[in-house]
Amino acid sequence: MQSMLIDGEAWEASSGARIEVLDPANLEILDSVPAAGAGEVNRAVEAAERAFSGWSRVVANERASMLHEIGVRMREHQAALIDLLTREEGKPRVENEEEVEWSANTFDYYAELGRHEVGQVLPPGASSQFNFTLKEPYGVVACITPWNYPIMLLAWKLAPALAAGNTCVVKPSELTPLSSLYFAEHCLSHLPPGVVNVVTGTGLDAGEPLVAHPSVAAIAFTGSLETGQRIASLAAPQMKKLHLELGGKDPMVIAEDAEPEKAARALAYSSLLNCGQVCTSTERVYLPRARASEFTEALVEHVRSLRLGHGLDAGTDIGPMIEGRFRDKVEAQVAEATAQGAKLLIGGRRPESSLAGAFYEPAVLTGVDHSMRIMREETFGPAIPLMEYEDFDQAVALANDSPFGLGASLLSSDPDRIKRFFEGVQAGTIWINDPLTDNYAGPFGGMRLSGGSRELGQEGLDEFRTTKHVHWDFSTEPKDFWYPYD
Ligand code: NAD
Repeated sequence: MQSMLIDGEAWEASSGARIEVLDPANLEILDSVPAAGAGEVNRAVEAAERAFSGWSRVVANERASMLHEIGVRMREHQAALIDLLTREEGKPRVENEEEVEWSANTFDYYAELGRHEVGQVLPPGASSQFNFTLKEPYGVVACITPWNYPIMLLAWKLAPALAAGNTCVVKPSELTPLSSLYFAEHCLSHLPPGVVNVVTGTGLDAGEPLVAHPSVAAIAFTGSLETGQRIASLAAPQMKKLHLELGGKDPMVIAEDAEPEKAARALAYSSLLNCGQVCTSTERVYLPRARASEFTEALVEHVRSLRLGHGLDAGTDIGPMIEGRFRDKVEAQVAEATAQGAKLLIGGRRPESSLAGAFYEPAVLTGVDHSMRIMREETFGPAIPLMEYEDFDQAVALANDSPFGLGASLLSSDPDRIKRFFEGVQAGTIWINDPLTDNYAGPFGGMRLSGGSRELGQEGLDEFRTTKHVHWDFSTEPKDFWYPYD
């Protein structure tokens, strides 16, 4: 029975309602969390508002120490965090080890970046003047996170938001709230009360009152396009600062000079990591016609070797999908594509298993084209559609033929193709030969329907700071260009 964290205290929903959290691999009930409503959300926002004046004035070195301490505590509690993440989200343990390490490092990174600078001195317009900018926090930031990387995507928001001097109200996904509550209880208790509050509940009952609350100045959201659009419309009347990380339909282009066995491993990893439930999963693949059969055969052989299972079992490569409705969507896209003429080469069915979760054997399809939903809409599951191209210009054009623009990958060692790719493809991240890898110093985010915000790097800090320009003239003499004009 987990509680929320409001103003430094454990808190329940006044309605007494709770949400059960399931292990997606076997559908066993893991625990339950409060189902918050507007009352608890208001209380959390008020606590964050009260804490803001103190937290925003904490001197940079002290704030940095407190952020480093979060990283230290995460490493002390990593075994429990990894276990909880694996149970509530389903991906293999090794992927959660990486998630926790990444998240702890994110706090260390922003601890340092946050004390580096708070603005710039600018060249003045006259010798009697001094011009400078101040980077200031917004105030209370709502951090609304999805289920696929519950702790990492929280860290990408919380660390820069706190480093910039904001206070936060966190609303984790109702499917995976346990790791966020554990993190808050064990890794944040050294922060002043109210600096970080965590409310649990559904998007409708807890998320919407949080977004609409007049004292919430900024909203940092990662999730689906539809929810992002809803949040943007709720925030519009108050012109709130929006930080939106939305869906994708990432392409991978395999160049003619790539090697089939290596390409198969890179592609399977970037399509099937976390059972394909990564915003930057490769969801469209373009193969050179002249060598398509070599790449396809190598991929099918490699995918055949991957093992499905519970994330805690050693040897599991791929866990379950988070819920049956997400598997239904993949199945529908695969069925539609095959009805339109695509060929299913392997997988694309529910395995026989003693585990009751939404497992799905990764599907590899050929003969797809851009008229099919599987090549246009986000799949967010383990399906790899392969399409052939004639020449590299066509591959770049196909990569760009999407309303999304989150990431794009290329496998090649040819500098000419590489340059044409990173210059020609519109996406927030371009990966050459190393798909899905992030770098704390490198901004991560999208273009077009993927949202235009950036997490990580200097840009990730600036998302949580507003700029004030101070124009100061030491002279108090009237200017000769003031009224009257004669
Ligand atoms: P989702 O949009 O259903 O939910 C995300 C969060 O928003 C949850 O906490 C949910 O409770 C909350 N929410 C839902 N409706 C809301 C509302 N009306 N008002 C306020 N909050 C609301 O997304 P999901 O299923 O949890 O995550 C999968 C999606 O996230 C995919 O589309 C994926 O591409 C995207 N994603 C994007 C990135 C990125 O960095 N661009 C990273 C991971 C996931």
